[in-house]
Amino acid sequence: MKISCVGAGPAGLYFAIVMKRRNPNHEIVVHERNPAGTTHGWGVVFWEDLLATLRTNDPDSAQAIADQAVPWSGQVVDVEGQPPLHHGGGGYGLCRRRLLQILIERALALGVDVRFESEISELRQVADADLIVAADGVASPLRRHRADQFRPQIEAGRNKYLWLATTQRFPSFTFGFVPTSAGWVWFHAYSFKEGMSTFIVECAPETWKGLGLGTMRADAELRLLESIFAKHLDGHELISRDGQGHTLPWSSFRRLVNRRWRADNLVLIGDAAHTTHFTIGSGTRLAIDDAIALASALSEHDSLPRALDAFDRRRQRALARVQRDARLSAEWFENLPRYIRYNTPAFFTLLLARRSRLLKRIPARTYLYLRGQYTKLTGRAAAPLGRIGGPAHPFGSRAKCGIAGAEPGTPRH
Ligand SMILES: Cc1cc2nc3c(=O)[nH]c(=O)nc-3n(C[C@H](O)[C@H](O)[C@H](O)COP(=O)(O)OP(=O)(O)OC[C@H]3O[C@@H](n4cnc5c(N)ncnc54)[C@H](O)[C@@H]3O)c2cc1C
Repeated sequence: MKISCVGAGPAGLYFAIVMKRRNPNHEIVVHERNPAGTTHGWGVVFWEDLLATLRTNDPDSAQAIADQAVPWSGQVVDVEGQPPLHHGGGGYGLCRRRLLQILIERALALGVDVRFESEISELRQVADADLIVAADGVASPLRRHRADQFRPQIEAGRNKYLWLATTQRFPSFTFGFVPTSAGWVWFHAYSFKEGMSTFIVECAPETWKGLGLGTMRADAELRLLESIFAKHLDGHELISRDGQGHTLPWSSFRRLVNRRWRADNLVLIGDAAHTTHFTIGSGTRLAIDDAIALASALSEHDSLPRALDAFDRRRQRALARVQRDARLSAEWFENLPRYIRYNTPAFFTLLLARRSRLLKRIPARTYLYLRGQYTKLTGRAAAPLGRIGGPAHPFGSRAKCGIAGAEPGTPRH
């Protein structure tokens, strides 16, 4: 089969790898608009279950990824003015640039034709392919050409976020919340390679405006953020990929769903098909799962349309719940003032329950009370409210979670 894959992110590259491994006779070209070695973002988190999936599908790249992954253990919530709270769980951080290098090297070794600085914005540029895979990210130019069939819905989240890095070490996944004159500003941080951590800053749009963020030169703004988070950074600097002098690349998270993922011989995978808010740390994993599912559907069905329809159905079903969880998680952070008034143990409980539909519907205090009552009655923590309202773990289903004996919180103000 002649395949054109647009986008050398995790989705496009992993699809090319899995297809070539299944049948080296496939002619696969991956087009990437950027030069080799460029990427956005810093480190991503993932869990053991992803490594298991990678080992099954391509042991070589799985080993290289496992070798580069940095484990983090436990989670910390640090709300200014209160003692930080530690909690169990663990996972891995990985440099996104390194991940892409590994996948590119592996794809090339398998005979995939990876072309950099090859921008595909019109379908006619790849018209000779039997199959066109749009792995071109959330803004997917290819998706627009069949928008009437895909029927995408994009919604911008309320909060502003910025994906930075720092040389400060965060051996645990850390959430830090700091009050400012214009409202709360917080970060999510974790190590992703020796001496480097991801540091994602987030705040409400009113706070962003109130602090004058987005209006200063990048270096001035980085210094301002360093002063806000001084206690956590302990003298280490914040780093942006964008050069000094420009404004920092603040964004609002784009939630994307598509009614269909397939139109004729064009199929969407990864962020071109769906997005999940970064606070559930699963976009890369889902992109890789899409790639594997598409390759499996193509080998299970002789007819291309049937294979693409089967892929579409299977992955839409798999994604529905994750996307709902991701939306709840994003909305939890958009409604932070509802929760941050509680003391840290209660706040942490609410943070862990942020994918709960129940928590969204009832007052936080009632949620904490119900949870406390359940624990008193059964001697067990949290799981039922997780079951009623969604998983209690902040990211993935594999890690252990649940603060023992969660008590109703006491509002601080
Ligand atoms: C702040 C933040 C934190 C995140 N943290 C995590 C995390 O911890 N764990 C996790 O699993 N996920 C995380 N994600 C999500 C993850 O980054 C994405 O879900 C993942 O990169 C999707 O992979 P993809 O291959 O579908 O798309 P992308 O990685 O976006 O790749 C798309 C590629 O297509 C190329 N392209 C676009 N248009 C064209 C064109 N016209 N022609 C040729 N090439 C083109 C782009 O240059 C890009 O290289 C995070 C996302 C954000 C925003």
